[in-house]
Amino acid sequence: MIVGIDMGHTLSGVGTGANGFVSETQKNREVGNRLMAMLKEKGHTVINCSVDKSTNDLADRVRKANAQKLDIFISLHLNAFKTTENPMGVETYIFNGAYNGKEANRTKAQAIQSALVKDIGWIDRKVKEANYYVLRETVAPAVLVELGFCDSRADMNKWNTEKIAAALFRGITGTAYSAPASAPAASGNIYYRVCVGSFNSRENAVAQQEKLKKAGFDSFLVAFEK
Ligand SMILES: [Zn+2]
Repeated sequence: MIVGIDMGHTLSGVGTGANGFVSETQKNREVGNRLMAMLKEKGHTVINCSVDKSTNDLADRVRKANAQKLDIFISLHLNAFKTTENPMGVETYIFNGAYNGKEANRTKAQAIQSALVKDIGWIDRKVKEANYYVLRETVAPAVLVELGFCDSRADMNKWNTEKIAAALFRGITGTAYSAPASAPAASGNIYYRVCVGSFNSRENAVAQQEKLKKAGFDSFLVAFEK
């Protein structure tokens, strides 16, 4: 797939994100960067549509998205309402206008929403429709995700960058993300020895070799300094 990822907000100046118990901007970047790495690792093409600094970041993000054909465009956000200890939940948006492929886009948004509700345990605020700029102006099917409320302690206590990125990966691609097995990095350069004993006297070591020889095993003797 060709996936456009918009990490929601600029890093400074116009268009930075909300602040609650965490910084929306920072959390968007954390999860967005991990998601992009997962997608690339599994062979997908990622277009980073994020903008670090701009006086017109919405238009700049959409321009990056529309510069090529994307299978899907995902805008990552955290919600904000008012400081609370209570859980608030996750919600996913599609454009509220009429357009070709709207129902397919809703199905994709629902897959992303369901994966986040199931894996993270956030309250399900459902798939919604809105007239957001990035959803309206992006040519590709576009989805905007509000990854919990940054001013809800309960929501942010559930924050887990790895799990959220994996849930987004599954919602986007339709397949679960599996981390690569941690095999030795240079397994081609590794060799193995079988040892049958260590001895203080050379005599005893040689006696052991003779026993092995009788049993049909060739061996070699190596001397080590203590
Ligand atoms: Zn936002």
